[in-house]
Amino acid sequence: MELKEKEEILNKRDKELNEKEKKLNKKDEELNKKEEKSNNRDIELKSKEISLNNRNIELNEKQKITKNRDIELNEKEKIINNRDKELIEKEKILNNRDKEINEKEEKSNRRDIKISEKEKIINNRENEIIEKEKILNIRDKELNDKEIKSNEKEKELNEKEEKLMLKEKELNQREKGLIIKNVIDSKIPTIGLDNLGATCYMNAVLQCMAHFKEVSEKILNWYKNMDDNNKKERKLSYAFGEVLDNLYFPHENNNYKVSYSPKIFKELVGNLNPLFKGIQANDSKDLMNFIIEKMHFELNPLGEKDLEIKDNGDNFINDQTNELLTFNNFKKEFTNNYHSFLSEYLYALQKTVTVCCYCNTMIYNFQTYNFLIFPLLDVKNFIIRSNCQNPYFNYQNYVLNLIDCFNYYQKLDFFQGENQIYCNTCKSNQNAKYWNFLYSTPTILCIVLNRGKDNKDFNENITFGTELNLSNFVQDKSDCAYYYLIGVVVHIGDSSMSGHFFSYSRTHFRSPWYKYNDSIVSLCKSENDIYSCGTPYILFYHKYQ
Ligand SMILES: [Zn+2]
Repeated sequence: MELKEKEEILNKRDKELNEKEKKLNKKDEELNKKEEKSNNRDIELKSKEISLNNRNIELNEKQKITKNRDIELNEKEKIINNRDKELIEKEKILNNRDKEINEKEEKSNRRDIKISEKEKIINNRENEIIEKEKILNIRDKELNDKEIKSNEKEKELNEKEEKLMLKEKELNQREKGLIIKNVIDSKIPTIGLDNLGATCYMNAVLQCMAHFKEVSEKILNWYKNMDDNNKKERKLSYAFGEVLDNLYFPHENNNYKVSYSPKIFKELVGNLNPLFKGIQANDSKDLMNFIIEKMHFELNPLGEKDLEIKDNGDNFINDQTNELLTFNNFKKEFTNNYHSFLSEYLYALQKTVTVCCYCNTMIYNFQTYNFLIFPLLDVKNFIIRSNCQNPYFNYQNYVLNLIDCFNYYQKLDFFQGENQIYCNTCKSNQNAKYWNFLYSTPTILCIVLNRGKDNKDFNENITFGTELNLSNFVQDKSDCAYYYLIGVVVHIGDSSMSGHFFSYSRTHFRSPWYKYNDSIVSLCKSENDIYSCGTPYILFYHKYQ
């Protein structure tokens, strides 16, 4: 037993020692750890010390900077102080100014009040004025209305006055017209015309024309009522009016008793047509034709335009209808556009019927005429040819008469050779036959008896009566073609361009005949005087009415 117990105590002791060793180990470990920690802490402390040192250096630096800054700040403060002082000064000034401004504002306010008061007054006045203006406008309108009415009234009165003046003028013209008519109807002009150097051809014609009662009356009326402005435009008509005025109213013009010098008329004719310039002898027929045409052109609204209407067969219906249509066209033109004092009495219509020898198309052609001209030699040849089968016809002793001329006038004739006509139906030039007809006759008919150039022909005899009946020749059956002779231009000499011209004339078929030989006017003993001296050259017939 003892051992055992000892072992057990030993074991126990051993166990305790182990325990102690374990604890020591642990303690050792702990110490190691502590040492390590202390080491680390040491390192840390060292690094902290370094960093502190650095910081110390930095701080020193900063302190320096701060010092400098301090100095700067001090400087700045000084400047700011100075500025402050300045600002204070300025403030003082500004305050003063403020005061001034306040004072001014006060003044301005006072002024403002005054202005407001004035404005009120002015506004009131303005209102008053507007009211007044309104009233004035109303009055103005009233006055305008009155003025318009007054103007209308004035216009009316003016129109009335114009009408009255026109009426007065018309009455004056009528009065003048009646005087002229009275004179023309009752008076036989017995004033001669001076010979201005071979101007008998003109005087003879003028004296006969002065006996165209209706034309003379119209031209005298027109001449005596014409405004000065128009006188220049219608030259020849005016100059002719002047001649008539001197022949019918010699006492109103000059103091001559026997003859008048138609100098102005002659000069004018010469200026208008060189053929009649100067003092050489001339042809009465040419002058008459010129005077009538020229005056007609001056007095008709169409001016210098010939009137001719043709039916070329384009719208062929039948002969009668075509003739009528063409004639109606012509008549319309003639009355609307071709009217003058002269056309009314001196112009009529002639008709030409042309027939194409190839296709027989008929063409109607109407033309005006103011005289008929008969070449006596041709008329005589025609009469001889027409009577070649007549064994009793004595052509050697045959004396032409005026009716022969009208037969000659409407004879059958031909367009051939160079004179072929263009046929619209054939569309080519063709021979054609044609006839001239008197479609109507004028109130005053002028007939020229044209003579040949040599002596024998020039003195060809022709008989004519103081009456002339053309009813067999006129196509328009309403036309009364019964005439009495009112004038003859007579020629003495060998050709129409030389010798002497004079005329016989009367105003009416009951009036006596007068011989007008330049400045000498003489009463005829009998009608036979007309047939007994010289060659009749132009005949003037007047229609019985
Ligand atoms: Zn034909």
